[in-house]
Amino acid sequence: MQILDGKALSQKITAHVAGEVKALKAEGITPGLAVMVVGDDPASHAYVGMKAKMCKNTGIYSIVHEMPDDISQEKILETIAMMNKNPNINGILVQLPLPSHIDEEAVLGAIDPTKDVDGFHPCNAGKLVLGMEGFAPCTPLGVMELLNEYNIDPKGLDACVVGASNIVGKPMMNLILNKFATVDICHIHTKDLKAHTSRADLLIVGVGKINLITEDMVKEGAIIIDIGINRNEEGKLVGDVDYANVSEKCSFITPVPGGVGPMTIAMLMQNTITAAKQRD
Ligand code: NAD
Repeated sequence: MQILDGKALSQKITAHVAGEVKALKAEGITPGLAVMVVGDDPASHAYVGMKAKMCKNTGIYSIVHEMPDDISQEKILETIAMMNKNPNINGILVQLPLPSHIDEEAVLGAIDPTKDVDGFHPCNAGKLVLGMEGFAPCTPLGVMELLNEYNIDPKGLDACVVGASNIVGKPMMNLILNKFATVDICHIHTKDLKAHTSRADLLIVGVGKINLITEDMVKEGAIIIDIGINRNEEGKLVGDVDYANVSEKCSFITPVPGGVGPMTIAMLMQNTITAAKQRD
């Protein structure tokens, strides 16, 4: 069994991004990322903090808009409109989830698609489905980079994606389908999860349930990607896969932490550079 080391690859990518930022700055372009966070959810603030820190490390200019929980939708849309117009900002990210009184679709749809570095705008989601150039969401994009780094070609593989959210499962499905995997996608209403997972050469799980995938649900020699992030009873970060037992049976596996997580931020930096290079 080989570990897919997302931490090492993310460091390689961010070092490359830092080099690109330097080159862009020499041409008079400073890539800029604006991040908006609404409310005081500690996890959201922790993610935003990590993103801002990585911007600093790579030389990307960043601003964080922190907004109170009771902010109006109008004010959020106004701020997005301002960032859309700001020539110093190449990428815009709205940290999810948003408070329940805010229409998430309207907010994500208000971001200029050319600055949509999280890839959640319907325009970019549509491009992904059609296999066109655009911004793909950072977490599934990070999975694709990891597969590529370890020379794992999805072409012809029987793949199973567990979890079908707009930000993880669905774009993940599209990215591997675009690389010619044969894809099953499972969700909370799937009748017999094991029937799907146990056929998969490539099993990608992003649900948010500890030990959802156990050894008996996995094909011998399968490639396992664990996107889930959970805290167990001891407060330790764990994924959705029973790592200790499944790792005995598979060919490749991502650890949690140190697998997909660090890749997400690295891809955000990479998408921001792409947006800066494509600016008018
Ligand atoms: P979500 O709650 O929006 O979606 C969960 C999906 O799992 C849904 O499609 C649901 O139908 C499905 N599901 C729920 N229970 C199931 C079950 N018993 N069997 C099969 N499917 C089931 O969550 P999300 O935002 O997509 O995030 C999923 C997980 O990925 C979470 O643990 C989250 O923390 C993690 N995540 C990690 C990163 C990262 O950088 N590594 C980024 C985003 C999300």
